[in-house]
Amino acid sequence: MPHPLHEQVRRAFGFPCGYCRVDETSAGAELTVDHYRPLAAGDADELANLVYACFRCNLYKGDYWPSPKEEAACPSPKPHPDAKCLTLISYNSS
Ligand SMILES: [Zn+2]
Repeated sequence: MPHPLHEQVRRAFGFPCGYCRVDETSAGAELTVDHYRPLAAGDADELANLVYACFRCNLYKGDYWPSPKEEAACPSPKPHPDAKCLTLISYNSS
């Protein structure tokens, strides 16, 4: 069952994965919708908290979310090629 905002998130991010930039062609399928801050943390299921992410990144990130310091710098994901916040997450969560 795709996320209700799947298509909106997909367009907002311009199709590649918000974390690693893999595109749908390379991934072999449409990507998934990831919660920037997990619902488990009580965050909202809304566009500002959603990232278009490939399956691998989604799985890798899991329930990680930014430390208070990182979160202050990047309160929400940015659908932009220079989304450093997202890169920060993908490399800090290991
Ligand atoms: Zn990815």
